[in-house]
Amino acid sequence: MSDTFLGMPAFPQAAARAVRDRQLRANLRHATHTIRDKRARAVAELPDWAELRSAGKAIKDHTLRHLDRYLVQLEEAVTAAGGTVHWAADAEEANRIVAGLVHATGTTEVVKVKSMATQEIGLNEALAAEGVTAYETDLAELIVQLGEDRPSHILVPAIHRNRAEIREIFADRMASWGRPAPEGLTDSPAELAEAARLHLREKFLRAEVAVSGANFMVAETGTLVVVESEGNGRMCLTLPRTLISVVGIEKVVPTWRDLEVFLQLLPRSSTAERMNPYTSLWAGTTRGDGPSEFHLVLLDNGRTAALADQVGRQALRCIRCSACLNVCPVYERAGGHAYGSVYPGPIGAVLTPQLRGTASPVDASLPYASSLCGACYEVCPVAIDIPEVLVHLRERVAEQGGHPVERAAVAAAGYVLDHPAALAAAERLAGRTRALHPRRLPGPGRAWTDSRDLPEVPAEPFRDWWRRNRT
Ligand code: SF4
Repeated sequence: MSDTFLGMPAFPQAAARAVRDRQLRANLRHATHTIRDKRARAVAELPDWAELRSAGKAIKDHTLRHLDRYLVQLEEAVTAAGGTVHWAADAEEANRIVAGLVHATGTTEVVKVKSMATQEIGLNEALAAEGVTAYETDLAELIVQLGEDRPSHILVPAIHRNRAEIREIFADRMASWGRPAPEGLTDSPAELAEAARLHLREKFLRAEVAVSGANFMVAETGTLVVVESEGNGRMCLTLPRTLISVVGIEKVVPTWRDLEVFLQLLPRSSTAERMNPYTSLWAGTTRGDGPSEFHLVLLDNGRTAALADQVGRQALRCIRCSACLNVCPVYERAGGHAYGSVYPGPIGAVLTPQLRGTASPVDASLPYASSLCGACYEVCPVAIDIPEVLVHLRERVAEQGGHPVERAAVAAAGYVLDHPAALAAAERLAGRTRALHPRRLPGPGRAWTDSRDLPEVPAEPFRDWWRRNRT
């Protein structure tokens, strides 16, 4: 994933720092509550939301089960429509392919449609190393790029910024990336949007190459779909001569008909809209209409490994709506940067450790970045049971190591719970020594009791009480 997150501390340290930032917490609270309330109203309008959700889940599960077949079908359809398909096993290969394609056009700059996949592979940084400048054209991505910042939300990458901060970034930084911000720019939303529009317009008009992702790919027709709200995507997808789309292999759906389900689920779950202002669909190339060259880079980068995990694979159903972020009490307080990945929030906590593995401290900490309250599962439009995957990944992390005292305690508990006589003896002993029990655990358990009271052990174990009262 993007090397801009390299060197991040593990989640507990990063979150502890973030929650002390009162401005950040205020920005996040305001934004997430506004979006989540609007989403709830938009979803409540549809009487068949539960059926749509089940259909979305079923379509994704079916596709993932037959991914090999649908990807080959997609490749054939894209090729027949005049496109070229490239397969990338990892980030390095995908970046190499895209850099090679850009170099072949002779240009040194590209415009970009907002894309999680290209952030995941660190494409902008890889292109910069090859002498190619990538310009983000989504408003929030532009704010992040100009501010030399990192995205903190899937849908609203600059959610941690308020209007005054954005005005400052535009006034200070736009000139070094192209057209400067207008004189006397204020923090009114209309003025900020106009400044961005003027700044970006010249980039759209001179761009020879655009890079995009895709929300969906239709196997039967080779059609790619991008949904967006600002129209910048439409500019990138139609004006340049060459279009390169980098898309995760899990984004394929079998038929055009399947899109009907997702084009209802996605806008209501993400922006709380009945439909997206711009829905762009294209298949290959058409003479005299849009780009004359189209390349599709199909990205694995850990996805087939995730697919092999019977519990974890459900994370590949994700349509990146970000509804789970907006309801998560942990995300609301810690913000997106604490997750050390381009995928923050509940979905990031289950997706990142599967795509990157759990070897590093930051990745091993992510499955614990949750209270397991289940709010993420309730709102997920494709019914990903995020708490189930989190617990599953915690087991994986625990198996690969953990503190020796913790391991010994869990092994002892396992033995006692497996042997009823030992359990009864342990309960009696605990009851008789209850006056000596500490109020806080020592060693690795201390953090757990920093914010919780240890339950009191009853003087008489339940089994003894039951035996005494039943007879
Ligand atoms: S996990 Fe579900 S709620 Fe979260 S971003 Fe993905 S689809 Fe949306």
